Amino acid sequence: MYGKISITGSTRDYSDNIKKLKKAIHEAEAIVIGAGAGLSTSAGFTYSGERFEKYFADFGKKYGFKDMYSGGFYPFKTPEEMWAYWSRYIYINRYTDAPKPVYDKLLELVKDTDYFVITTNVDHCFQKAGFDKDRLFYTQGDYGLFQCSEPCQDVTYDNEAVICEMYEKQKDMKIPSELIPTCPNCGKPLTMNLRSDDKFVEDEGWHKAAARYDEFIRTHNGKVLYLELGVGFNTPVIIKYSFWQMTAKNPDATYACINYDDAECPDLIKDRAILIEGDIGDVLDDITG
Ligand SMILES: [Zn+2]
Repeated sequence: MYGKISITGSTRDYSDNIKKLKKAIHEAEAIVIGAGAGLSTSAGFTYSGERFEKYFADFGKKYGFKDMYSGGFYPFKTPEEMWAYWSRYIYINRYTDAPKPVYDKLLELVKDTDYFVITTNVDHCFQKAGFDKDRLFYTQGDYGLFQCSEPCQDVTYDNEAVICEMYEKQKDMKIPSELIPTCPNCGKPLTMNLRSDDKFVEDEGWHKAAARYDEFIRTHNGKVLYLELGVGFNTPVIIKYSFWQMTAKNPDATYACINYDDAECPDLIKDRAILIEGDIGDVLDDITG
């Protein structure tokens, strides 16, 4: 629907935009945060380079991939190898703290305002930073949950204990066979609760969070700040286009976008948009500093 509307890039002076965003956060009756992968990248969860070498040099050498994302698509020949890879991946990206306190800074900025978060991130960083879990909607799943690969029912399972055990007990890039997780209901293999195909399980927690998000959107129509952080164009419909649309519908709303290299919006809302290109952590520092 936005295909024919020309896009306005971030051209205004950076410090002017920082002031505007600070004011918008301060004056907002409600803030809807939409977060994508760029927010976790800014928090130090990088999937290639030094961090890949630190944790996956052995896998890289044996299988030839050079970043964690590619490794996630590698067709490992056995479940023992596949789970050695994934348990290490989930352990470092879900069960350890983010290297930089970007999520903590964000919480400091919004905690006294009525806020809600919608995110396509699956790394649990919002909860770890202390965001209210009743104000979060994880649309695409969570590394910390398993689901049946079939799936035989709409249920998910906490995986912390088993992931930690796989992580600790793996040897030569293989986990012990007895740790391969199977569905307690049907016995088929378990898999991550991530939306990668139509087998994604939307469990009870997912539906409740979706309903709370809808309710928040429906009941907040005044001075709302739609704050988009690090959202790319992989799945723009979930956050970006939806924020553009809601801003367009509400004349009192402000749309703010912080993105490393891609902060833009349709002309239709450009008078009420704050577009900032840069590292999200640095920008939050400048707002609070
Ligand atoms: Zn099952």
